[in-house]
Amino acid sequence: MNDLSVITAEFGDLSGWIKRPDFWLDKPDVGLPFLKSLKTAHVHGIGTSAGGREIVAVEMGEKEPMETTTDNLCSALASVQAPPDPTAVFPPSFYGKTRRTRPVLAIQGGIHGGELTGTVAMLNLCKIVEEGADLRGKPWPRLQELARGVRLAMIPWLNPDGVDRWPFRDTSGIPSELTSRCQMGVSKDGTKYKYPGVKDFFPIPPEKTAFMGCYFNDAGVNLQYDWTSLDRQPETRAWMRYYLDERPDGVLIWHCNAGSMMGPPEPYLPEGFQHEFSRLAGAVQARLWREGHRVGRMSWAGLVGMGRPFLNQMSAVYHVSGAMPIMAELPCGAAEWPFTAEEMLDIGLLTIEETLAFAHQDGLRPYEYWGKVKKQMAAAKEARA
Ligand SMILES: [Zn+2]
Repeated sequence: MNDLSVITAEFGDLSGWIKRPDFWLDKPDVGLPFLKSLKTAHVHGIGTSAGGREIVAVEMGEKEPMETTTDNLCSALASVQAPPDPTAVFPPSFYGKTRRTRPVLAIQGGIHGGELTGTVAMLNLCKIVEEGADLRGKPWPRLQELARGVRLAMIPWLNPDGVDRWPFRDTSGIPSELTSRCQMGVSKDGTKYKYPGVKDFFPIPPEKTAFMGCYFNDAGVNLQYDWTSLDRQPETRAWMRYYLDERPDGVLIWHCNAGSMMGPPEPYLPEGFQHEFSRLAGAVQARLWREGHRVGRMSWAGLVGMGRPFLNQMSAVYHVSGAMPIMAELPCGAAEWPFTAEEMLDIGLLTIEETLAFAHQDGLRPYEYWGKVKKQMAAAKEARA
C-alpha cells in the first residue's frame, strides 16, 4: 500500500520535491514539535486515524461557555413550526442561550493528505498570534490583532495516514500529473487511479493497491464523502465530535488545486449560508487581486460534475455543527500554474486575514451584522451595570 516504486518507475527521480524552506512546516514530523513549542496554544489529541495515527487539535484564545439543551441541530431547527421565518435558523437550544462575545473560527487542513499549503499557513498563523510575524519573520500586525480577537480551533492534519504517505514537501514547479498519481494512487495490477473516476470506488481496496493515494486514509476511504457511510471512519467521528464541542461560527476548510479559489457554495446549505459564503469568497478574491496575486477560478462552473447536487464534508460540517463551511482551495504550486512557496504562504495568510476581518465585521452568521450585534451587547452590559 506504500510502494513508491510504482511512482518512481513512471516518473523517475523524485528528489526535486523532497526539500522544504524552513518556514514550510507541512507535516507532523516538523509541525508537531513547533506546535508543542508554542506558549499560548493548547495542543491535544482528538482521535486516532484508521492507521493508528493521532489526530491533533490546536486551540488559541479563550473558550466561552455555551448553554445548550441539544447536540442535534436538525431537531432544534424543527422545534418551531410557525410562523415560518427563513432567518430563524439559529435555535438557542443548539447555538446557545446567549451569544458568545467573540467569533470562533475552526480551521481544518489535510483531509486530503497531499494538500498541505493551508496547514503551512495555519502553523505560520500560530507564530503570528504569539509574535506578530510569520516563520519567515514577515510582520502581520493586522492579522495578529484580528486573530487575537477570536477563538481559533484548528485541526492541522485531519487525515494523518494520507499525510504520512505523501512523499513531497515543497511542490513548487512539480508536474501536476505526478501529484495526481500520488494523490489518487496505483493498483497492484498497474491501473492508475484517475480523478474524478476514482470516486466510483469507495473505499479503494487496500489489499489490491500498490500505492494508496494520499487522498485516502489507511482504510482506503476518501473522508470527504465518509459522513454518509453506515460505519464511519474514526477521522470522521473525530471531527464531528470536535466541531460539535466547539460549535464554531465557521470552519475554514483547506484543500489544494492548481489555482486558488473558494466555493462554490454547497447546494444543501440554507440559502442564507450560501449567499454569505459567496460574499466572503468575493472579498477574499478581491483582496488577493489587490495584493497582486494570480487567482485561478472563482467557481467550478467549468468542471465536471457542476450542476449536480453534490454533498460532501463541507455540507456535513453545517448539518452536524451548525457552522458556516468555508472551503478554500489554495495553490499547490504545480508547474501548470506555478507559485513559489513564499507566494503560497502569503496567499494562505491573506485568505485567513480576510476571513477573520469578515468574521469580526459582518460575522459568519447570515442575516445579522456582527459589528452591530457587538454594539448592542456592549450597550446591554452597560445598562445592567
Ligand atoms: Zn482536496
